Amino acid sequence: MNELLAAYRYTSNNYGQIEGSRLCGCCNCVEIFRPDEIVGWTGLTMDNMTDPRAVNEQTAMCPRCGSEAVLGDGCGFPINANFLARMNEAWFQRTMIRRPAGKT
Ligand SMILES: [Zn+2]
Repeated sequence: MNELLAAYRYTSNNYGQIEGSRLCGCCNCVEIFRPDEIVGWTGLTMDNMTDPRAVNEQTAMCPRCGSEAVLGDGCGFPINANFLARMNEAWFQRTMIRRPAGKT
């Protein structure tokens, strides 16, 4: 599988992965930061907030730009400016792959 495609899966439902990471990066603003800088998570509702699985499947929001496009090094991909720039180009400039429509 294309590594950019593989890495993109880790930008969603990545709570567990980011908890195990030492460094995170954002594919939207290409900033690099530590996992403990992330304060915003999406995915929990009043109905599932006590469900450990739902907690583990929260999606990180970038502390810099608010995008749900955060990647942690715990996923096995390199978190550096070059890799993030390639992700950004592929997913946000739409030069390679169109993002799924209707993501909220
Ligand atoms: Zn960002």
